[in-house]
Amino acid sequence: MTKAAKKMQRKVKKAKMQRKVKKAKKRLAETELKEKISMFSKLENSCLTCEKPFDKQNKEMVQSWYVVVRKGDLHGASALRRGEDRVNLYCPECWSKASNIVVTDDSKWTSIDWEKIKEEINAEKS
Ligand SMILES: [Zn+2]
Repeated sequence: MTKAAKKMQRKVKKAKMQRKVKKAKKRLAETELKEKISMFSKLENSCLTCEKPFDKQNKEMVQSWYVVVRKGDLHGASALRRGEDRVNLYCPECWSKASNIVVTDDSKWTSIDWEKIKEEINAEKS
């Protein structure tokens, strides 16, 4: 094989790799988005503490209410902790006096970035 041919081969290989990486990244992004949307659908319709109704369509509410997500630990060692993701919803009042809302542990509790979700959903539609 000539030097030039070898060089060409390397180039092709590299391009293939880059495509692979790109694809993997895209897949990851899609999975994350799906996860976010599924969490959105798991949302309760009311505050977990005072049961005040929550309206998903109300942008102001979505902005001001608090959501914590407890990731289900499907591969966890402890049977107790295994299971579905839990999405807990709190109104601003309850949140502000919520010294009793225990957000213990770890990075597994996250708040949801609503605006981001909506942006992504809209981007997907267009
Ligand atoms: Zn409340």
